Amino acid sequence: FPKDVVELVESHVREVENFPAPGVLFRDITPLIADPVAFASLIEILADRYRGKVDAVAGLESRGFILGAPLAVALGVGMVTVRKAGRLPGPVVGIDYDLEYGSARMELQPFTVKDGDRVLVIDDVLATGGTADAAFQLIEAAGGVADTLCVLLELVDLGGRGRLHDRHVHSVLTY
Ligand code: AMP
Repeated sequence: FPKDVVELVESHVREVENFPAPGVLFRDITPLIADPVAFASLIEILADRYRGKVDAVAGLESRGFILGAPLAVALGVGMVTVRKAGRLPGPVVGIDYDLEYGSARMELQPFTVKDGDRVLVIDDVLATGGTADAAFQLIEAAGGVADTLCVLLELVDLGGRGRLHDRHVHSVLTY
């Protein structure tokens, strides 16, 4: 990503210690989306990068929705929501995956993905990669083609890139 977007994200992200649990350093993107100029330029830069290359944008609940929806509109493509278990009315496809402690489940409505659609997955932070990996599998189960994740921040030490195997990870900033 161009240097100006890296600086834009870097200057609008907060680090919050011990949230939501002791020992976690939470990366908070709310200052970025609260700044109308910064938010608009971020979306414009992302749209320039993906224009013509994707047929849909899939946001991961919930901060992926905030980034994904304006990006989808800017690209002129549809928005797909990948949600935590029990939030979407059926029919849904779902997948359980392991977290650092315990497990989680993500779901998607397969009718929101058209056969062969190239779907860009977007979220705020890539940590262990479990959520993004689940999203890729759900999109593929629904008939889509998903091989790229776009995130603002990648927490390299948590190894998300490795968990995503041969998928592409586009991160604006790495920590
Ligand atoms: P993971 O499945 O481990 O890659 O976790 C990714 C999800 O958890 C993303 O939707 C992030 O929003 C959230 N997340 C994980 N770690 C952090 C963190 N340190 N700061 C902010 N969000 C995080």
